Amino acid sequence: MDIKAPRGTYDILPDQAHKWHYVEKCAHKTAALYGYREIRTPVFEQTELFVRGIGEYTDIVKKEMYVFKDKKGRSMTLRPEGTATVVRACLEHNLAQSSLTKLYYIGPFMRYERPQAGRYRQFHQFGFEALGSRLPSLDAEIIQATFDFFISLGLKDLQVEINSLGCRECRPAYKEALVTFFNGKAEELCSECNNRLTQNPLRILDCKSKNCREISHVAPSIFGYLCGECKSHFTKLQEYLESVKLPFSINPLIVRGLDYYTKTVFEIISNELGSQDALCGGGRYDQLAEEIGGKSIPAVGVAIGLERSISILEKRGIVIPTDADLDVYLVALGDESDLVVHSLQKDLRDSGFRVERDYIGKGLKNQMKDAHRSNAKLAAIVGADELKSKSVTLKDMKTGEQKMHPVKSVIEIVKKRLEGGSWS
Ligand code: AMP
Repeated sequence: MDIKAPRGTYDILPDQAHKWHYVEKCAHKTAALYGYREIRTPVFEQTELFVRGIGEYTDIVKKEMYVFKDKKGRSMTLRPEGTATVVRACLEHNLAQSSLTKLYYIGPFMRYERPQAGRYRQFHQFGFEALGSRLPSLDAEIIQATFDFFISLGLKDLQVEINSLGCRECRPAYKEALVTFFNGKAEELCSECNNRLTQNPLRILDCKSKNCREISHVAPSIFGYLCGECKSHFTKLQEYLESVKLPFSINPLIVRGLDYYTKTVFEIISNELGSQDALCGGGRYDQLAEEIGGKSIPAVGVAIGLERSISILEKRGIVIPTDADLDVYLVALGDESDLVVHSLQKDLRDSGFRVERDYIGKGLKNQMKDAHRSNAKLAAIVGADELKSKSVTLKDMKTGEQKMHPVKSVIEIVKKRLEGGSWS
């Protein structure tokens, strides 16, 4: 067949699905623990939302968005990230009125990027967004919640890196200093960074090319330019993190790829992920709501990459629990037994047991093979003898032990047996 999944996308096949169930379950659990409520937004939005929200000179807006015209000629974009969409929804539904609004989302996002290990054109993010406070204690909570999500997955020893990007008041002077510095090195910078020099000089700091990295390491640091408020915000954030013994380091080269960040930015990284080493990225975005045409709402958030989270679980050999095995496989011998098995299946399911039966008309041997293959704990067999005595034979698939029981008591006995009890 010539038709394939689009480049940079992939199918989650049934033998991988349990990994997604696992990370999603941990995500919902961590969000509940921290008091974040779920929000689901459309997978496409008006293009203007992202151009205004993310910034027209960012890589995402310039090169990576899937933009299309709808039938009425309106420009729409498949969502490349979650924060702008969540803020749009909050403004539209007046969610962030006076008190703090804590939300989370899980879902697919689309960016036209060059596919490579850890980088896809459709990927999944789990994100927290907290709107309505300027205080650094909230930045600390978001970092802590993200860290705890990774702990709940079983991931320890991850590096938390924080930085400050300043604000509207102090960042322009820093940008100017960077432009002056990098202008003197323009010939040594890659061609992409030469473009960034005029459009988005901060992004030069996180260019992956070796030359640019070496130059960035001796570039002026933001910490010489932060205004009093930004400086104190960053100091307090560190105090909060230290007070709960959350290990972190300061990395002045974290700038993030989205223009909306102010003050705090952070990433959690793992060296095991190669060049795409960031498991998540987040920070404060006090001006985003205004940028997209709403009132001013200070806010902070994070987006966690789920593909990379799963990839590191695999790399570290962490056993991801599989979805529960079957409780009972029902085996029928003949048409009359088939009817008994069919209604027994319904009764067992009504009682909450995971049950399967044959639907292709296989013989006893092959039905028993399927019972083994499905990892069922018990097989329930109905043949001629059982029909005659209105009974069912229950077989323990591990020990091979088996016994006939009246149909009426089967559910009670299955329950007892699965709880580790005896047949009688
Ligand atoms: P961002 O939305 O760019 O701040 O990214 C946040 C996190 O999402 C990253 O740290 C990655 O874990 C993940 N991520 C971003 N882009 C991709 C992508 N193209 N493929 C897979 N994961 C991604």
